[in-house]
Amino acid sequence: MSRILVVAPNWIGDALMAQPLLARLREKRPGLKVDMLAPEWVAPVARRMPEVDEVITTPFRHGALSLRRRWQLGRALKERRYRQAIVLPNSWKAALVPFFADIPVRSGYVGESRYGLLNLLYRRGDRAMREHYARLSEAPDTEPVAPLPQPRLRVHPAQASATRTRFGLESGYAVLCPGAEYGPAKRWPYFAELAARLKQPVVLLGSQNDVPATEGIGGRNLAGRTTLDEAIDIIALAELVVSNDSGLMHVAAALGRPLVALFGSSSPEKTPPQPGRSRVLWLKPECSPCYQRECPLGHFRCMRELTVDTVLAAAAEL
Ligand code: SF4
Repeated sequence: MSRILVVAPNWIGDALMAQPLLARLREKRPGLKVDMLAPEWVAPVARRMPEVDEVITTPFRHGALSLRRRWQLGRALKERRYRQAIVLPNSWKAALVPFFADIPVRSGYVGESRYGLLNLLYRRGDRAMREHYARLSEAPDTEPVAPLPQPRLRVHPAQASATRTRFGLESGYAVLCPGAEYGPAKRWPYFAELAARLKQPVVLLGSQNDVPATEGIGGRNLAGRTTLDEAIDIIALAELVVSNDSGLMHVAAALGRPLVALFGSSSPEKTPPQPGRSRVLWLKPECSPCYQRECPLGHFRCMRELTVDTVLAAAAEL
């Protein structure tokens, strides 16, 4: 049976934007088994993708070279006899495990001059991330056929309800995600006012790093207090999600929840939430997108001028 190894991106949102690639691979090659090599903070999302047969968690820290451990993992994977590896991160080190595993076809974008480490190379173009990844299901000079599949994450209803009960949440709540690991230029500043004006009870979600961004907002603050799996369960049962451009925004879209997605310094043309029940709000002043972590101009107009009334109106439409 044909088996392929996909090296997952290091960000949750990017991993979700790679899901159409996985669906397209399965469409094009019936019977194909798809394994995903993913860091532990991305693995819970990968395990919920119906297109993934097995998730292999990498033991490396973010950004660490860990040459010896990559060699050991590559040699351990050799016996699986993968026909192909698709490497989604651009880094040189991300291509090492498939190389050490002697996988005959190793494809991906040139990235950090990965000639030799990869042997089926693609050149980057100006595409949205979903198309960027989905292109790796085709030959290097071929574009993927539109529209791309719109895969969803798996939810186990009994498990989701048990999670909700464990955290003492009543049904009908709104989830707010006020963090964004990338930096303050992606964080909308009016979540506290929004929480006070929403008719639903509010639950705040985010990672441990998002805790400072959630302080003083009100509602039930679960940022840093859930696993990613628990956060996914809680989002799956939300009546409404309002989120900055972050991994949890992509999670909410992939779960098909009504979502208001707030963009400022980044572009929804490049990293939009999966189409569905979502409204994207982006004022797009002339300086946007700047992709900076902090506003280099100091006025932060891209998000400061996005009002609570606008967000509430979008939520009401949903
Ligand atoms: S420069 Fe413009 S797009 Fe960038 S953070 Fe400031 S206001 Fe937003």
